[in-house]
Amino acid sequence: MMTAAYRIEGATGAWEVVIGLEVHAQVTSNAKLFSGAATAFGAEPNTQVSLVDAAMPGMLPVPNRECIRQAVRTGMAIGAPINKWSRFDRKNYFYADLPQGYQISQLYHPLVGEGRIEISLDDKDPEAETKTIGIERIHVEQDAGKLMHDQHPTRSYVDLNRSGVALMEIVSRPDMRSPTEAGAYLRKLRAILRYVGSCDGNMEQGSMRADVNVSVRRPGEGLGTRTETKNVNSVRFVMAAIEGEARRQVDVLEAGGTIVQETRLYDPDRNETRSMRSKEDAHDYRYFPDPDLLPLELDDAFLSECEASLPELPDAKRHRYETVLGISAYNAGVITADVETARWFELVLDQGAKPVPAANWLTSELFGALNRLGRDIVDSPVSQTQAAELLSLVADGTLSGSLSKQVFEIMLETGEDPGAIVEARGLRQTSDTGAIEAEIAKVMDANADKVADYRCGKDKLFGFFVGQTMKAMGGKANPAVVNDLLKKALG
Ligand code: ADP
Ligand code: MG
Repeated sequence: MMTAAYRIEGATGAWEVVIGLEVHAQVTSNAKLFSGAATAFGAEPNTQVSLVDAAMPGMLPVPNRECIRQAVRTGMAIGAPINKWSRFDRKNYFYADLPQGYQISQLYHPLVGEGRIEISLDDKDPEAETKTIGIERIHVEQDAGKLMHDQHPTRSYVDLNRSGVALMEIVSRPDMRSPTEAGAYLRKLRAILRYVGSCDGNMEQGSMRADVNVSVRRPGEGLGTRTETKNVNSVRFVMAAIEGEARRQVDVLEAGGTIVQETRLYDPDRNETRSMRSKEDAHDYRYFPDPDLLPLELDDAFLSECEASLPELPDAKRHRYETVLGISAYNAGVITADVETARWFELVLDQGAKPVPAANWLTSELFGALNRLGRDIVDSPVSQTQAAELLSLVADGTLSGSLSKQVFEIMLETGEDPGAIVEARGLRQTSDTGAIEAEIAKVMDANADKVADYRCGKDKLFGFFVGQTMKAMGGKANPAVVNDLLKKALG
């Protein structure tokens, strides 16, 4: 089914929104792009700064192989050609968080060429429409430091810990047409980066930030003038910024004004963008090849190693879960949406659990519990081994579905293993027909009127008898056996 196109309704008719995102993703690497300084998040200000990062005179940058490797692997993961020859350029500007007076980036010869990402317009619906978003390029560049304005009433400070950290700038084509598409693109890009292991995708910590380019036009017309909203740091804010900015542009245009190509800032507290500066062009930055760095030349052995080290990616994994493991499209989508969930799930399978019941249990019971506890799967209170053991107790008939839920609750509370819980508390499911028949007889005696009603055709009462028998059995009777025996006894 085609979903209706997203439109902004103005006084003079409908407008289409055009969006392109430039994502800055911090490369997962122990050291910076051109120095050996550490990159750990949250360190004391200015404790991870080498002389290179502080731009001391005479210091020379040396490219970090691991950063390049991660960017190459990312390029491969989005199906892009890797440029075996690329080059670093200086982007010159002054700002207090940039001691070098220029950022080392790649303008003319980026490391990674054109790729693409497939997004689903509704992550939760496996049948939802998909769309391919083009990626123009990925280049590698340095991050700047950070100004701190909240430490002193009249002074500002500079923290250079981020100075020189490697970033991948991932530039999309203007292929998105709604906040929802932009949100889906960011989530999918984040998933791919996390699978590849080239960026942790942590938007709160600033490991992934988006510059949001937005323009509006009448459907069918050419591209309108865009604005660029800088450094938006959550998916929700990106979506809100697009909505607000598109609405603002429509209002300006409908009032007879023109859109100024400019750089804007998103203010989450007021949920609006505001003008920061007029848009600068590449020539304003006086880009030129960095004379301190040789062009980057990659050999085939390096590229093959990058290729060989790529993991199974989300789309492929999802497809395999559905077609090879027989997992429902919904569960396959949910489990493969994040690499940690997929990893956790596969460790449960490695310990012998059957894929379909394991997937059902994970997306209902485990996710439910994690939600209640406000925990991520990596901090799950039960281990993969415990999960596999619980599932095997269900598979071999020791536990019924409802008993397994009880056991799981106890696991969450006590951290004990499921087998031990079953033993210690006698929570084993029973198929002892004699014991069950005895309880059925008591239930029928106590409810002679209902037995009569049932026999006169009130079929719905069957559930009542199941419930009463299960209750009498302390929840431990095998439900299938109870059903069979009840059918016989009720006639
Ligand atoms: P610049 O080099 O000035 O930043 P680019 O052409 O590289 O400009 O585009 C930067 C980003 O802006 C890209 O993500 C691109 O998709 C997006 N973009 C370009 N034109 C438009 C437009 N008219 N509307 C929305 N986004 C656009
Ligand atoms: Mg740009």
